[in-house]
Amino acid sequence: MTDPHSPLPPGAVIGILGGGQLGRMLSVAASRLGLRCHIYDPSPEPPAGHVAERVTTAPWDDAAALAGFANAVDVITYEFENIPAATLDLLEARCPVRPGRRALEVSQDRLSEKNFLSGLGLKVASYRAVDDAAGLDAALAAIGAPAILKTRRLGYDGKGQARIMAPDQAGAALAAMQGAPAIVEGFVPFEREISVIAARGLSGAVVCYDPGENVHEAGILRRTTVPATLSPGQQADAALIAGRILNALDYVGVMGVELFVAAQGLVVNEIAPRVHNSGHWTQAGCAVDQFEQHIRAVAGWPLGDGRRHIDVVMENLIGDDVQRLPDLAQEADTQIHLYGKAEARQGRKMGHVNRIRRG
Ligand code: AMP
Repeated sequence: MTDPHSPLPPGAVIGILGGGQLGRMLSVAASRLGLRCHIYDPSPEPPAGHVAERVTTAPWDDAAALAGFANAVDVITYEFENIPAATLDLLEARCPVRPGRRALEVSQDRLSEKNFLSGLGLKVASYRAVDDAAGLDAALAAIGAPAILKTRRLGYDGKGQARIMAPDQAGAALAAMQGAPAIVEGFVPFEREISVIAARGLSGAVVCYDPGENVHEAGILRRTTVPATLSPGQQADAALIAGRILNALDYVGVMGVELFVAAQGLVVNEIAPRVHNSGHWTQAGCAVDQFEQHIRAVAGWPLGDGRRHIDVVMENLIGDDVQRLPDLAQEADTQIHLYGKAEARQGRKMGHVNRIRRG
């Protein structure tokens, strides 16, 4: 293994936990920089396996496979945040893991995440931990309705969430959590949803991309538009918020910070310690996209320039959307990304397009 503080040379190996589309696009970016990728994923034939040099297929609790993987790579990163703590213990003992443990701990649990963000003085929705019906009633009495009940762990794309429009819906919402520890959040009446993709390098340098404006459908990101409709002050605020979060975590890598634009200012919804779907537009809008940026950061390289050179609308291709491929391929100024997934199930992200908008 090379010195963990010096930049990894071309030919070094990046280990990536998770081989979905984010791992796949990270692998492509790494290979452009002359770096090699080794994917670790429990499921056979992960999308990243088509483009990475090596794949280990083993469960998250396979100590021998994890040790073999950690010994075969120069740095470890990940494409998703739900890595079990015991897995991380095993890996960290052998190889640097970037971003580090604190970012994972904070983002794996919505309660720790809210405590961390509000501890930094950032605005978040009002929230309470909920363990049972009495706790939910008390929380709703304090926060009021409408509110959203969410599982503390393992929620994504709107899964593990139930809206409570009036207190009499509390019972049904709690039943939907299926006994999982939860958190209830006051509903933020937002004007729009935005996200900032930001990176912090090993040296502590921070680079922010322009905020994107996000539209969700059925809990899944449908579209990201850059530039977002924001005042210069809001735009600056968004970057400052991201910088504060990255610095507080002594973070190394790319992070997605989701924000609500509301009357009371920018409210942080959640953070993702990884490259983010709402940052895919950078592939068409910036000289160095979020995937290359993340690889540069975890490899100890200087960060790339985050400036945007053109307007972009990113649209996810979800489920059967991928059938539109023949038409999409005819469009001018449209960059197509497909993830190599065989089966187009409903709600499954199959690819995305970046449409550039010339001024
Ligand atoms: P999340 O998984 O927390 O990102 O939530 C998914 C989506 O639900 C968000 O993108 C928002 O559209 C909506 N949402 C989540 N929490 C809140 C909240 N406290 N107030 C208003 N909308 C929310």
